[in-house]
Amino acid sequence: MYDCHIHTNFSSDATMDIKDAIRVSEKLGLGLIITDHMDYKHHVPGEFIFDPDEYFSEYQVYRNERLLLGVEIGFRDDSLEEIEELKNNYPFDFIIGAIHVVNGMDIYYKDFYEGKSKEQAYEEYLNNMLTLVKHHDFFDSLAHMDYITRYSVYEDRGLYYRDFPDLIDAILKELSDTDKALEINTRWIHDKNTVNNFIEILKRFKELGGKYTTIGSDAHRPEDIGVNFGIAEEIVRVCDLKPVYYKERKPYYINIK
Ligand SMILES: [Zn+2]
Ligand SMILES: [Zn+2]
Repeated sequence: MYDCHIHTNFSSDATMDIKDAIRVSEKLGLGLIITDHMDYKHHVPGEFIFDPDEYFSEYQVYRNERLLLGVEIGFRDDSLEEIEELKNNYPFDFIIGAIHVVNGMDIYYKDFYEGKSKEQAYEEYLNNMLTLVKHHDFFDSLAHMDYITRYSVYEDRGLYYRDFPDLIDAILKELSDTDKALEINTRWIHDKNTVNNFIEILKRFKELGGKYTTIGSDAHRPEDIGVNFGIAEEIVRVCDLKPVYYKERKPYYINIK
């Protein structure tokens, strides 16, 4: 198994030395793909961004079959040139596409939700995601589709397929038509409601022709590597999907028991 989403010291919100990450992953018998944050034009200058030359020169010596070098790119439509340049000029194994910012607002903060019903906020978020998957080809796997449920301000924060079937279908269809993966982010799958909601979405992905899923802990500390992977394996079994990892931007199947 591979943990396809972890953050090390090149991410400004992580405190993880690559050597500690390797030690933990070896103990757990996991391969790793490092996916440090690259969020261009963050409102705090210098945050969530790293120097790719430094990243490759420092990490190249650790690179092997079980330690691959990727990136999590925060999608925003005012940074497309920078994203294209990064993708074209550096030899990443794997690129995660993520939505952290919607129409210029970081959805981590309450301001995004102010004056919006849950339906309006979630619809805006999903529409932004549809733009990403429809018009951009820079990524291999779509990260944490239900990211908004971590930070939104509503009493019931769940992302239910039944509330936005057309929008979610359009996103899943686009992913499957372009052979992209849909990520199972294990950082937030500890409660049953979240798991069941996401299973419904993954099953629909499979129905619409989706093939690939990546499993990632989104760990920012060594102790979170591989967290909830037992649940993730159960989810892929229930949804009849096959997990993959990426090397040189190509997917490889992972056998699970
Ligand atoms: Zn993310
Ligand atoms: Zn992440």
